[in-house]
Amino acid sequence: MKCTRCREPAEVKLRSHNSAFCRECFLLFFRRRVERAIEHQEMFRRDDRILVAVSGGKDSLALWDVLADAGYRTVGFHLALGIGGYSDRSRERSESFARSRGLELRVTSLADENLAIPTVVGATRRPACSACGTVKRHYFDAAALEAGCNVVATGHNLDDEAARLLGNVLHWQVEHLARQRPVIEPRHEKFARKVKPLYLTSEFETATFAFLRGIDYVVEECPNAVGATQLAHKAVLDGLENASPGTKLAFVGEFVTRGSAGFQPTERPDAERSCSSCGMPSWGETCGFCSLRALVDRKTGRAATVADDPAEDRRP
Ligand code: AMP
Ligand code: ZN
Repeated sequence: MKCTRCREPAEVKLRSHNSAFCRECFLLFFRRRVERAIEHQEMFRRDDRILVAVSGGKDSLALWDVLADAGYRTVGFHLALGIGGYSDRSRERSESFARSRGLELRVTSLADENLAIPTVVGATRRPACSACGTVKRHYFDAAALEAGCNVVATGHNLDDEAARLLGNVLHWQVEHLARQRPVIEPRHEKFARKVKPLYLTSEFETATFAFLRGIDYVVEECPNAVGATQLAHKAVLDGLENASPGTKLAFVGEFVTRGSAGFQPTERPDAERSCSSCGMPSWGETCGFCSLRALVDRKTGRAATVADDPAEDRRP
């Protein structure tokens, strides 16, 4: 097997691209694909400041590696979730990557905020991934604002996006389909633009890139994610990809270029108020995150005041 680009012996075979690459040409191919996604989707430019959300996994570290090498102005942000040894290792990998590259990494520890994910789940009885999503959204926006970044980049890859798209299609979640885009513009000046530069890059490709670049990343999945429906969707998609290489690329790529225009999000009024607690944009007196925080404080005996929380209504 020879490299499609330079005819030297190939080391990486990509059936979905009908190509094979030697080490150097694969790295070039990968970086070019990420750059092209950034340009085609107008994610950001050289003068933007980008907060890269790094989990310590292969995708976000590979993304940070590419962006920093390409000369973009980046700041890393890691949210230490407080999920036992998994979170300790995730933080450690993020920090050692930043140190080895001389890059700036900011870390917020949820345990320090009395918001470690197990604490939040215990207090609110919300599913872990949903509580974690609310908390992450708040801290990503807050960290971007604090670091003077107008863009937040995450490492969601093609496999993540394909599984999410399949889930949304299976249940015809039209609102979610309308919002599943590689670029989400902010609806308030205090919020950042959210971008996914790896949305057309497969998990195999990011893992290969991380390996060839010598990036030491956390291999284990979040313990809360095991058994999640998304894993079942991924397995189905892997089967389809095996039978017909390129399926995931077509599914996600064509959805973004042609399909998604058919789904428009319902108009919601912009947040005109500021949360009385954290100061971030809010639709009510306090934002969703601060309602959650108030509930956790109350349940864990940290707060004197009782705040109403809409999540209470959803409890069984
Ligand atoms: P996940 O939801 O775990 O699949 O992660 C998707 C993306 O969100 C990752 O590629 C990161 O960019 C970001 N992310 C997830 N967890 C964290 C974290 N604890 N701290 C910072 N960024 C994160
Ligand atoms: Zn708030």
